[in-house]
Amino acid sequence: MYIECRHIFSSGNKCHSPSLRDKHYCYFHANLHQLVKPGSKTGELGLRLPALEDRRSIQIALTQVLEELAAGGGGGAAGGRGGGGGEC
Ligand SMILES: [Zn+2]
Repeated sequence: MYIECRHIFSSGNKCHSPSLRDKHYCYFHANLHQLVKPGSKTGELGLRLPALEDRRSIQIALTQVLEELAAGGGGGAAGGRGGGGGEC
């Protein structure tokens, strides 16, 4: 018998990996939760993207980025990188 990781995926499913000794998460999610701490600052676009750990989280992140681009966000440095292919 072992204690399972407490992480809940964006799909709502629970991670079933064994947790690290004296920790609440498995090795992967213990490191992930150290990287993405609650209340951490968002990027220039104000997006708080989920960790890309499964299909659903990738879809959520992609949707957030596309919605921001469609709304005209990131008009600064990030907005000038698309299209074209060269500057003449
Ligand atoms: Zn886990």
